[in-house]
Amino acid sequence: MKLFAIFGDPVEHSRSPLMHNSVFKNLNYPACYTRVHLKDGSKLRETFFTLGLSGANITIPHKEAAYKACDEVRGFANNVFVVNTIVNENGRLIGYNTDADGFIFAIDEFKKKFNKIPTALVIGAGGTGKALAERLTLDNIDVTVLNRSDKSAEFFKQLDIKYFTWNDFKITHKFDMVVNTTSAGLKDEELPAPSETIEEVLNNTSFVFDAIYGKLTPFLKLAKKKNIPYKDGADMLLGQGVLANELFTNKELKSADIKTFMSKSFEL
Ligand code: NDP
Repeated sequence: MKLFAIFGDPVEHSRSPLMHNSVFKNLNYPACYTRVHLKDGSKLRETFFTLGLSGANITIPHKEAAYKACDEVRGFANNVFVVNTIVNENGRLIGYNTDADGFIFAIDEFKKKFNKIPTALVIGAGGTGKALAERLTLDNIDVTVLNRSDKSAEFFKQLDIKYFTWNDFKITHKFDMVVNTTSAGLKDEELPAPSETIEEVLNNTSFVFDAIYGKLTPFLKLAKKKNIPYKDGADMLLGQGVLANELFTNKELKSADIKTFMSKSFEL
């Protein structure tokens, strides 16, 4: 029996255990998935081995610590130094980022509806903000990042992505899509930036996305009030989860079956 887990702080909100266990149970895969409340990200590697895990997902705020905990990092995660999925390969920790492609899966309907997305504003610059902003630029979308602090300014400068803090941001053009990747609204009723900024941004956009799932955040409530098409993070969660499960099971299970049973867990 293999054991998998999600690490985070907070972590009780995570639906990942339900999603992965639904796949394992229905497809008779001998594995179980639990959650671990980890306060100190530097303890991730040690905790992973102590628990005898075969793999893990990593959520807020440890995705950058997860990158550091790995012996090897593969694919897109190397662009942004952000890891949300770890697989134990013969005692070596291999890191991946499945959030970015999960997000691209989630906004597919928007891309189809509006034909293309020339510009996007990504609010937040933590692990998720970095991954989503860089992934969008790979699709030739002109990305601007808006964050509370200047902590990640250097990171985005290296990637040649425009970066503003609340203090120096001024809206100069319309953003086709606005994405909240902050944790504002997850455990509180806060907007991801000062309300006058959010008002102005929402008055100049066609589509709003929030990475948070399972609740209508104040950000999405405002988008709804303004009749702007919006979407929460549930499909992104599904998209990243399917990709992570494929890595956990070394592609032994069919992707379509994983998706079916993960989707079913959303009804629970
Ligand atoms: P991080 O801790 O790495 O980053 C948090 C970001 O939010 C930082 O930019 C931080 O700003 C900002 N922030 C935190 N609190 C506030 C606030 N009150 N007001 C404004 N900005 C704030 O977290 P992650 O990037 O890992 O996760 C962010 C969110 O995305 C979480 O809510 C998580 O649940 C969600 N998520 C959803 C996924 C899905 O599949 N749907 C997948 C991944 C994440 P600063 O830099 O100034 O500290």
